[in-house]
Amino acid sequence: MERGGDQSRPARVVIIGAGLSGLTAGRRVMERFRALRRPVELLVLEARDRVGGVIWTDRFDGFTVECGPDSFITNKPWALDLCHQLGLGDQLIETDAGRRRSFVVRGGKLAPVPEGFVLMAPHRLSPILTSPILSWRGRIRFLMDLLIPRRDDDGEESLASFVRRRLGREALDRLVQPLVAGIYTADPNDLSLKATLPQFLAMEREHRSLILAGWRESRRKGPRALELRASGARYGMFVSLAPGMDALPNALAAALPEGSVQLETAVRRVSRNEPDSNWLVELLDGPAIEADAVVLATEAHVAARLLDAQDPALAHQLRAIPYASSVIVNVGYRRDQISHPLDGFGVVVPAVEGRSILAASFLSVKFPSRAPAGTVCIRVFLGGAMDPGKIDLDDDAVKGIVERELAELLGATGEPLFCRISRHPRAMPQYNLGHLDRVAAIRRCLSRYNRLYLAGVAYDGVGIPDCVHAASTTADQLVDALTKAAANAA
Ligand SMILES: Cc1cc2nc3c(=O)[nH]c(=O)nc-3n(C[C@H](O)[C@H](O)[C@H](O)COP(=O)(O)OP(=O)(O)OC[C@H]3O[C@@H](n4cnc5c(N)ncnc54)[C@H](O)[C@@H]3O)c2cc1C
Repeated sequence: MERGGDQSRPARVVIIGAGLSGLTAGRRVMERFRALRRPVELLVLEARDRVGGVIWTDRFDGFTVECGPDSFITNKPWALDLCHQLGLGDQLIETDAGRRRSFVVRGGKLAPVPEGFVLMAPHRLSPILTSPILSWRGRIRFLMDLLIPRRDDDGEESLASFVRRRLGREALDRLVQPLVAGIYTADPNDLSLKATLPQFLAMEREHRSLILAGWRESRRKGPRALELRASGARYGMFVSLAPGMDALPNALAAALPEGSVQLETAVRRVSRNEPDSNWLVELLDGPAIEADAVVLATEAHVAARLLDAQDPALAHQLRAIPYASSVIVNVGYRRDQISHPLDGFGVVVPAVEGRSILAASFLSVKFPSRAPAGTVCIRVFLGGAMDPGKIDLDDDAVKGIVERELAELLGATGEPLFCRISRHPRAMPQYNLGHLDRVAAIRRCLSRYNRLYLAGVAYDGVGIPDCVHAASTTADQLVDALTKAAANAA
């Protein structure tokens, strides 16, 4: 008997992975079943000893340090809505409005990212033309964007090729590469523009020139006008949670039925014997679990391993999504140990500068409650697709690099108050050229199975709001499939 159609017992849904995606999917499944007044048995199986996946907060001595994400954007509403639904609305905190700008390293020194320059859209021209970041030749090439025709070829283009074509190589190397690396930890020569930042393709299609598009957007009246003066990222649109980012996965887990989240429960295989039979979820340690429906909410390379025996072709496609590894180092100093005024939210480092870090975010400037008065917390990023060896360095080597770089860039002196190193091996999927086709191929393979789903950061957007949205949509599809199976069986 196909269990999905058997109404005499609750449907059993197994979700593998208790990161943001798995927990969001679990919550939505429960919400839908409650609304349908149908019983469901939910299990969320997590390999680690905590929920949250890459979202991970550490608290000590008055510091609240983020070992993974530190904030999320609100112009995509899904994560913000989820926080309100979970009762976290009054815990949301905004970035300090007085210092919404960032720096970029030029010749070993910090220069402000020109006001109005957001990722690669210049909303104001004069700050770029007067900034020391681009040479005169670079500025003239940048202005040529006003004259360069649209690309009429429909083929997929890398982010680097797009920026070189429109704004010139210097703008790519000195501004766009470091700003984008901060989000995707990616090599822009491989990154698919269509899969990551399609809004810039749309700008070219609609306005031809990025400068014109930015100028027209900034002329539009409305509350966003002020935001367009920000530099680097639209910091006014980012929020965090007062207790720390892990408040979100913790609240999600608390909203699930007691006992449904099982920690230290690693899955090793997902398979089924007959096309319509139930799924068998085999654990690394413990008896196998039979499930009516399964969501794999792990990294794509883990999903590949779990599905290898069931479908080698699907596993091959999943494995083809490359991942980058990164290291986040939270370091604390007394304020008087750092000579730089820290009058911004952080600094990004172009690869052409040849330094050993990707960026340093001034966490306690962005969110002052993160460190006690008289101290600062700085988050340093190392590794990524362009510097893959950093994940293998030992703690002493990482600490040495961080202290040296912060001494040279920010004038940090003396022993830090603390240095917390968090490694994220193969945690960030790379949406490289061909990503959208690869995801479409994965979906085609997956459509051969009923009641088997994928969720997570690997497929439809890397940000926290994207993950929330995709996981909720997946849960809806699962519940619809189970209710349809039940209706057919009745
Ligand atoms: C270093 C870093 C910084 C980031 N910063 C930001 C940011 O500031 N803002 C933002 O919007 N986004 C950020 N992101 C992206 C954001 O973190 C993700 O969008 C989101 O948190 C991913 O959640 P997930 O559940 O899909 O994946 P994950 O968090 O990776 O969760 C997957 C889970 O599956 C579990 N698992 C793996 N294998 C098994 C197994 N065999 N059995 C059982 N469980 C298993 C893992 O232990 C993990 O808990 C960042 C990502 C990284 C890597």
